[in-house]
Amino acid sequence: MKTAKTISEVRKLVAELKSQGKKVAFVPTMGALHGGHLSLVKMARHHADAVVVSIYVNPEQFAPHEDFGTYPRTLEADLKLCEKENVDVVFMPDDEIMYGSDEKYFNIGIKELNVHLDGGSRPGYFQGIILVVNKLFNIVKPDVAIFGQKDYQQFRIIEKMVEEFNHDVKILMAPVGRAEDGLALSSRNAYLSKEERTIAPSLYRAMKYIEHQIENGILEPSLLIQHQQDELEAKGFKNDYLNVYSLETLQPVDQMETGKKYVLAIAAYLGKTRLIDNLIIEA
Ligand code: AMP
Repeated sequence: MKTAKTISEVRKLVAELKSQGKKVAFVPTMGALHGGHLSLVKMARHHADAVVVSIYVNPEQFAPHEDFGTYPRTLEADLKLCEKENVDVVFMPDDEIMYGSDEKYFNIGIKELNVHLDGGSRPGYFQGIILVVNKLFNIVKPDVAIFGQKDYQQFRIIEKMVEEFNHDVKILMAPVGRAEDGLALSSRNAYLSKEERTIAPSLYRAMKYIEHQIENGILEPSLLIQHQQDELEAKGFKNDYLNVYSLETLQPVDQMETGKKYVLAIAAYLGKTRLIDNLIIEA
């Protein structure tokens, strides 16, 4: 496994792989790697001959009051996991390499896809992600890139960005990696206290309950959501959002159509930890 800190180093390593006729898959991450990330690496391996992973905690996607400073950083363990998964190249730039110190003249606007879900709750979040992913795609120039369904809105925004900006990369989505009790794996789960960790899977259970009701023919999300939110609040969660959204436009849906697919998405705080999760459901 090779590691690269600079743009020219990673470009050279990827060019070498491509000159050997290898198809290159890319998995961008912020590190603190867990089983969810590793499932993306496995999927990358399945769809390509070589795998590049980036580890970079992108300051541009954190608001000033958010957890950029305390975000878990476990580089040594991350590199061991990548080595074990036969990753070919790990790109681990620093802020100076990624953004330099010059004044910046551009930012990328996002329209409807950014209004609800995390886009609504975290102003500037997806602009920061789109900026860094654009840069990473231009640096790594992968043939394929893998993103997790865990961040479905991120996947959808990147999928559209690739289409509208003509990035020459195929985007694939990997399913949500979960702990045995259903909790979606997340680097931020490290913030949970022991007690909070036992309560956290309730988010998944609330979604599964709603999914079950929808499968039983209740097609108006408003009839299902409030009760689950009240139950979660009673368990100690502070709700952010819970709703059914269009898979394509990410707009909330008032009335589902039988046979159509949607994303049921949730975000809530448990203590200081913000948890998100989603299920792709069929009405
Ligand atoms: P992050 O390091 O949180 O920025 O995530 C890097 C990539 O891993 C993103 O594409 C995430 O959607 C994906 N990811 C994070 N957690 C999971 C999970 N539990 N299951 C599947 N993919 C995940």
